[in-house]
Amino acid sequence: MEKKDILSMSLLALEKEMMALGEPKFRGKQVFSWLHQKQATEFAEMSSLSLQLRERLEENFCINRLNIARRLASTIDDTVKYLYRLPDGNFVETVLMQYHHGKSLCISTQVGCRMGCQFCASTIAGYVRNLTPAEMLLQIYETERDVGCQIDSIVLMGIGEPLDNFENVIAFFRLLSDPDGFGMSLRHVTVSTCGLVPQMRMLADLRLGVTLSVSLHSADNRRRSEIMPVNRRYPIEELLDACRYYFEKTGRRVTMEYAVMDGVNSAMGDAKKLAKRIAGMQCHVNLIPVNPVAERSFHGLRRTALQFQKELRAYGINATIRRTLGSDIDAACGQLRRDAQQRAKEVQT
Ligand code: SAH
Repeated sequence: MEKKDILSMSLLALEKEMMALGEPKFRGKQVFSWLHQKQATEFAEMSSLSLQLRERLEENFCINRLNIARRLASTIDDTVKYLYRLPDGNFVETVLMQYHHGKSLCISTQVGCRMGCQFCASTIAGYVRNLTPAEMLLQIYETERDVGCQIDSIVLMGIGEPLDNFENVIAFFRLLSDPDGFGMSLRHVTVSTCGLVPQMRMLADLRLGVTLSVSLHSADNRRRSEIMPVNRRYPIEELLDACRYYFEKTGRRVTMEYAVMDGVNSAMGDAKKLAKRIAGMQCHVNLIPVNPVAERSFHGLRRTALQFQKELRAYGINATIRRTLGSDIDAACGQLRRDAQQRAKEVQT
């Protein structure tokens, strides 16, 4: 019999499992605390449980781990990029960043991605599978173990489209914020989407308190559909309506991510189009000089981002430019995993 993934279980589910083993309900909370507060990696560590129960847990459940396949530490700032090996041998990337307000961790939500954004390395080899709630949590736990300190905020901006793995991402949010577990306030969590409108609305209805970040990248439907296939399904009008809905329901301003690409989305007319689209909206624009991806030909200079910011300001829109962290180790998201795949292929052939 396959052992059950205990780290993905809610407290309620764990209490039920304990009762099924003939244990009192409160054991569920004890085990949950061992897993998510003390972050035990072996049942043997759970010293407040009887030896017999620890053995039965060992027989029925597994506490998964992620292995650090590569670890790149920046020499210009405190950014650390991890390539984690999942229990089934797949890889994902996680990035630890140091901001003035604390440590922020960028986590992956899927192995690969099916959204097909042209400028993104994560999608080039397609989609493999969704991450489990435990695999999302473990990116936090393993990184904390590695650096020996606490992470203050989480962004779901690594490999994958979080809202395409909706159920597991919500289960992850609930585990992460459970006061009997890790206990992180969801106000410290940001979820980024390329624009899956129905799921954005579902997320708004849940009123979890997470910040929503939308990868807009163009205010022109034709251009956006070229670089982001998701736009053919959910055009800009519907996307911005869903953003307004998110604000109405949650009171939280949405962030518009805009990766500035020369010759694609940053000409004079583009700033005007963007300003017109979002005029009067409760949102914040974040400009990112696009990260070059080996297989693609997109480029974005910091100078272009500064110029675009100036033009937006002239139309009454304030925008920030994202600070570039770990540029020496970096390459855009998804590239470390691509490298590992290429290397594995070279070894095979
Ligand atoms: N799928 C989600 C989250 C993962 S990508 C989303 O699309 O939002 C996280 C952010 O990085 C998104 O804004 C995405 O558009 C952006 N991104 C992807 N590739 C990039 C690149 N080469 N340069 C700059 N930003 C990039």
